[in-house]
Amino acid sequence: MTQFTVHSTLDAIFDLTVGALMASGANRENAEAVAEVVWKAERDGCLSHGIFRVPGYCDALKANAVNGSAAPKVIDQAPGIVRVDAENGLAPLAMKIGRPALIEKAKSQGIATLGIANSAHFAALWPDVEPLADAGLVAMNFVNSRAFVAAAGGKRAVFGTNPMAFAVPRPGKPPMVFDQASSASARGEIMLAARDGHTVPEGLGLGPDGQPTTDPAAILKGVQLPFGGYKGGAIAMMVEILAACVTGADTSLEGEAAYTGHGGPSAAGNLVIAIDPSKFGNDRFLERVETMFESMLADEGVRLPGDRRLVNRKQTPESGVHTDKALYDKVVAIRDGG
Ligand code: NDP
Repeated sequence: MTQFTVHSTLDAIFDLTVGALMASGANRENAEAVAEVVWKAERDGCLSHGIFRVPGYCDALKANAVNGSAAPKVIDQAPGIVRVDAENGLAPLAMKIGRPALIEKAKSQGIATLGIANSAHFAALWPDVEPLADAGLVAMNFVNSRAFVAAAGGKRAVFGTNPMAFAVPRPGKPPMVFDQASSASARGEIMLAARDGHTVPEGLGLGPDGQPTTDPAAILKGVQLPFGGYKGGAIAMMVEILAACVTGADTSLEGEAAYTGHGGPSAAGNLVIAIDPSKFGNDRFLERVETMFESMLADEGVRLPGDRRLVNRKQTPESGVHTDKALYDKVVAIRDGG
């Protein structure tokens, strides 16, 4: 199948995203916070969470399924806990507004937690935690969404794709940051395969008849599976408990019940834990991590998670961004009032 693409710069993608979001009802602050994560995803070659997501954001905004004027409220809940009520807005602004207090608490106490409730998280998770590692913290992040994924052994969706991210600072280098769904694949990857007419590998999901399938369209109507059988199922469950039950946000099942048919998750939760390793009375943290990475990388075939993104990060500002033409035209039409 011939695929036509449009070549543009990262900054053009940022401006287009802001324009489309504002035309759909977001205020500038919310639109720019989302466009920053779209910009980062395109820069790092994470196409399933770049401009590909913008029509979904816009659809949710136009249908008032998310609040485009949300002004997230930061609550100093306890010495080690920052809480943010995202006011049913898009997660990037809530994260941006809550992060400084999390860093300050983690640095003063050694560990702190940020809990965000009532947020719609459609994005990749690594941009949430990378700034924490840039500030010298080890960080992890857990997010729930709408129910798309069965428990291990089941055929009924109970969990979101429930991603998690981890970040570790490195001396003189970008931090090691990785993120992954607790489903066998991110939903965005299945959506891309359905759009492009590809099959997906076995083991990602079941069709509406409860049978295993490699047809992405059938999985989108059926149910996704956790990665790694019961081990991934247990992780999905725990992400749900941390992101939704601890923060007081909607569980993925509650999010599904409230779904209006527009956009992605809403009123879901997000739990970020940040640790200052320098507070553990061990001044060799960075050195020990580097020694461990060196041992791993000495084995041929091993790479650090996140390295693919860092390679793209160097190349994209030179090479620019290539966007599927139908997608690009759709976002332009939204920006122009379509
Ligand atoms: P992938 O399986 O594509 O990648 C998971 C991680 O593994 C990445 O950090 C990747 O690094 C790393 N990795 C991949 N191959 C290797 C390898 N050979 N050796 C070492 N590390 C490797 O991620 P998913 O499909 O699970 O998720 C894709 C995206 O979707 C994520 O950004 C996630 O945050 C997002 N997501 C968001 C959701 C939401 O509700 N907002 C829900 C679910 C997922 P690298 O990037 O360098 O390849």
